[in-house]
Amino acid sequence: MVNYIRSAAVWLTAASAVSASVLPQVLLGPSSTDTPPTKQPITRTARFDQHKLVHISPPCAQTHSNAVYESAVLQKLSTEKTALYKTLAVDQRLDVWSVDQDGSVVVRVDPQQLQDLRDWVAAVGDWFPCTDDEEASVRSEPFRVLVDDIQPALNAESERLNKFSQLDVETQHAQWFSDYHRYDDIRTWYNSLAQQHPSLLQIIPSIGKTAENRDIFAVKITGNKTSLSSTDHKKQFWFHGLQHAREWIGGAVVQFISAHFLTGYGIDEAITTLLDSAEFVIVPVMNVDGYEYTWTNNRLWRKNRRPLNDFFGSVGVDLNRNWPEHWGEDGSSSSPYSEVYQGPSAGSEPEVQALRKFFLSPNHTSLIGAIDFHAYSQLVLRPYGWTRKDAPDEHLLKQAGDGLRDRIKEVHGKKYVSEREIDLYAASGTASDWFYGKEVTKWLEGRHLYAYTIELRPSANEGGWGGQGFILPPEQIVPTGQEIVKAVKWWAQFALDHPLKKKD
Ligand SMILES: [Zn+2]
Repeated sequence: MVNYIRSAAVWLTAASAVSASVLPQVLLGPSSTDTPPTKQPITRTARFDQHKLVHISPPCAQTHSNAVYESAVLQKLSTEKTALYKTLAVDQRLDVWSVDQDGSVVVRVDPQQLQDLRDWVAAVGDWFPCTDDEEASVRSEPFRVLVDDIQPALNAESERLNKFSQLDVETQHAQWFSDYHRYDDIRTWYNSLAQQHPSLLQIIPSIGKTAENRDIFAVKITGNKTSLSSTDHKKQFWFHGLQHAREWIGGAVVQFISAHFLTGYGIDEAITTLLDSAEFVIVPVMNVDGYEYTWTNNRLWRKNRRPLNDFFGSVGVDLNRNWPEHWGEDGSSSSPYSEVYQGPSAGSEPEVQALRKFFLSPNHTSLIGAIDFHAYSQLVLRPYGWTRKDAPDEHLLKQAGDGLRDRIKEVHGKKYVSEREIDLYAASGTASDWFYGKEVTKWLEGRHLYAYTIELRPSANEGGWGGQGFILPPEQIVPTGQEIVKAVKWWAQFALDHPLKKKD
């Protein structure tokens, strides 16, 4: 970590020296590096005392193959890998944290829900373990409490962040990837990058407003030369982070990619070549209101913060179920109480509208790939989430997804799984299906994008808590960033080398 920061500082100096100022500088807010960091201590009102993380395994289909099923639910659970997730997240409206390859899930429950859930597991019948495979020891306990109380981890995180927030802005920027940051501080940090790399980084201060009237900003990173002929446009790639508010590592990774590209340009040959032939369009924080809310009120908030004006005063839509692509189908919920609430209509949410409008702007017709960063479970997910049928470009999408997985593993040995989203669980109205879906493809006159959702660290089976789930320790920011940077550099080059052809 220390080595990385030191070498990044050297890179910053060296890379600044080779950059000539050619872009008009648009900065975020009234000032830049002299903006004081956000120093208010975290005093969140939402507490999770005695909330548990529970691991639930699906019944073993093998064991049940000759059994008389006691219920339709059990039959479904036994035969469909994804049924347990759907039952718990959509039907039971529980807060599901992760889904593993065998269909087992980790859910957060309060002490009252714990007994209900235990009863439910017991009630769906003879939840027999498999006896003849290596999973037997895990499956022999269909219901396991992994963590008895998650509040202490949240307390420890707040305490650490409060200490960090007391540092002055230069020190915070020098140690940027040693912790997570508030939205205003992220804006200030991008401003200082724009000042250091005026020819490489362009800031778009607002692509639209959130429900609570905050600006969503975007940045564009590209080299100041072009390796292309003058008639050819640079190809473009899209990244966005923090669609789900509590998935903090998603935001940190997008920032890490930005810094890596900027400091590597002119020094690292691969980055220089890539940025001279492509432009990266990045929305670092999509769900600004939700993200702020995770700092001020509720660390585990997922949705946006739009009041739904219903009788019960519900707030928030799951933005990654709100995109206008097979909206409201499998794996999303019409209940405002659900964590996967799809919203009142397709594309109803201001944050989705802002990104959609910006994505479909005339400047972006050279987009060839897009990634939506999430956490957690270590997955590289490709279309579709809404149907079992293969995407028309399945062959190349799989090759690129598997390549991402393999490059990630080369860096720190972390195992990600590359698969179609539907093979993990059904989800509809997602950003990555929209990237690949009707509206974008029509706009690109029949050309599809390399479209992915990447679920970052930790893995689903690190006990659900070994990596602390959404509360990923800050020591993991740099290694996660390193493995993803290596992978996305490879992926972008792959997409440039293997353009998806128009389909009739
Ligand atoms: Zn997510």
